[in-house]
Amino acid sequence: MFRKVHFRLALLCASITFFILAVMSLGYLSISEKSLKDNSFASFQKEMEEIAESLTESNVLTWEQLSRIEDQGTYSIQILDNGVPLLFNRQPSWKQEQLFDAAWDYFESHFEILSFEDNPLYQGEFDFSSKGFGASDYYGCAMILNRNGGALKIMLLKPLTALYQQIRTQRILFALLTGLAAIALFLFSWYFTRRLLRPLEESQQRQTQFIAAASHELRTPLAVILSCASASRCGNEEERAHFLDSIQSEGLRMSGLIDDMLLLSGMEAHAWTIDLRPVELDTLLLETFEAFEPVAAEKSIHLSIELPEESLPPCSCDPGRIRQVLSILLHNAVSYTHEQGQICLSLAYQGKSFRVQVADNGIGIPEEEKAHIFQRFYRADPSRSSKGHFGLGLAIAWEIIKAHQGQILVGDTLGGGTTFTVVL
Ligand code: ATP
Ligand code: MG
Repeated sequence: MFRKVHFRLALLCASITFFILAVMSLGYLSISEKSLKDNSFASFQKEMEEIAESLTESNVLTWEQLSRIEDQGTYSIQILDNGVPLLFNRQPSWKQEQLFDAAWDYFESHFEILSFEDNPLYQGEFDFSSKGFGASDYYGCAMILNRNGGALKIMLLKPLTALYQQIRTQRILFALLTGLAAIALFLFSWYFTRRLLRPLEESQQRQTQFIAAASHELRTPLAVILSCASASRCGNEEERAHFLDSIQSEGLRMSGLIDDMLLLSGMEAHAWTIDLRPVELDTLLLETFEAFEPVAAEKSIHLSIELPEESLPPCSCDPGRIRQVLSILLHNAVSYTHEQGQICLSLAYQGKSFRVQVADNGIGIPEEEKAHIFQRFYRADPSRSSKGHFGLGLAIAWEIIKAHQGQILVGDTLGGGTTFTVVL
């Protein structure tokens, strides 16, 4: 499911960004093409000005002058002396003649030619489109010189093939760059959305694992309850009492597990808050120690407490939740320590932080397991754990300490065993 969502999201993200980029690029391209055309026409006009100037200055047209003009740009020139074409350089082809006729027609229909009395030269630049004569678009410049009473008409035509080639190259470059940008955008979106979706995917995975593990844990007591219920039907009074005891203890086990699961899911949904207030941590430790003394004594475990002699500042925490963490750690210490073992509960205050330690000399936790013990339903050695352990205790402790913005660390006790340290 996440793969599909990932692909769609990446595609959507890339298409939106690409659309914006394409619109902006097209806008830029059209502006740049317009300015390219304007500049090209302006430079054509400038060239024509220069030519016209040199023509009026010399008043005589020489072959060299004409050749020079032709060499200056890619111009085609036609000269009409009183309407009769002067042959220059080469015989014009029939097509060219037609082209010049079309250019003169265009010129005459678009420009109003005034009298030459004051101005010896009339000049007009234009661009015109003429289908069917080679390059279809041209810049044209018509010059009419008043010479000895007659008119010398000159038409200069410049095909726009070079300009159009430049525009075409620019468009191809733009298309290539936009294509590359589209690929880069898709790759970036792919990477970006994957990063975005990863926490969701992990959370969904955790949820699935949690449900699978919870159902697995609930199935065992439920199976016991069901078999005890059916067996109690045909048993005698004594057997029935025994089955009812089993049903009750399995029911209690299920209820404990459900409480733990509800607590964890409440934490996940942030439906659970901590009630921070100043707490005398040493008093809280002492109370918990006293509550656990009989539990430890039952297993002949020696439970001790070490508190700092000086008075400590109050610690800002939720006393109920911290007591719950201490119970989880002490419960583990008692569960995973052999008879005649030792457990020490201690408190220290260092550099404005409180360090609560629960150290035992029990079975210890292998190095490779330490990274996993805070995961839900994780048990270092399920076969060794006694009935009634679901692997949720440390996960709950972790969440509580995380909500306090503290730390919970696991290490080895000197000489064997495990030490849990809570930093608040
Ligand atoms: P639950 O706490 O739900 O009853 P649990 O004790 O198995 O079950 P956690 O408290 O989360 O679960 O502990 C996870 C695992 O870490 C335990 O199964 C055990 O293997 C290991 N562990 C925890 N505390 C100790 C300890 N003090 N000594 C050795 N192993 C420990
Ligand atoms: Mg436990």
